[in-house]
Amino acid sequence: KEFAEISLKDIDQLASNSFPLCMRHLFEKLREDHHLRHGGRMQLGLFLKGVGLKLDDALAFWKMEFSQKVGTERFDKEYAYTIRHNYGKEGKRTDYTPYSCHKIISSTPGVGDHHGCPYRHFSEENLRAALGKIGVGSRALDDVMDKVRNRHYQLACTLTFEAIHAASCDTGINHPNHYFSESQKILKS
Ligand code: SF4
Repeated sequence: KEFAEISLKDIDQLASNSFPLCMRHLFEKLREDHHLRHGGRMQLGLFLKGVGLKLDDALAFWKMEFSQKVGTERFDKEYAYTIRHNYGKEGKRTDYTPYSCHKIISSTPGVGDHHGCPYRHFSEENLRAALGKIGVGSRALDDVMDKVRNRHYQLACTLTFEAIHAASCDTGINHPNHYFSESQKILKS
């Protein structure tokens, strides 16, 4: 196992410091709308499991948001199951693994969905705005957009990583949880 446990109280800070854009977007939408559709719940939920959010904290986290929208009763009835399921506590008890970039890039988010890879699925305008917001400067932004135009989404993500951490990422990004661990390595050193 690559990661230590993370604690619920640190989650906002970790999201803004070390989540890749795909997860940051889902995280912010969840906080904003108190809801995510199935694809988003799976993509973010398994990522959070991968970074070390324990099941009890995951349930508390999703409940805190969803109950504002659907109420606690409906949360317990309709949504808690999937979260336990993701942790292998229901159904076939498979321990589901977090999605790779490849899987996320090949997904097909519909209207109202927030999962997917922003480099692949955002409009150019929205992507530029999102990158500006997380502190990618204009020169780096042009380089990122260049990779996007050539459909090198993971390279675009790697360049983003390097721009906001002011450090190189020689391994490249091929998994959101790898982005997270590389980021934490740099920030904790
Ligand atoms: Fe997420 Fe991977 Fe896309 Fe980066 S390249 S935003 S880690 S899916």
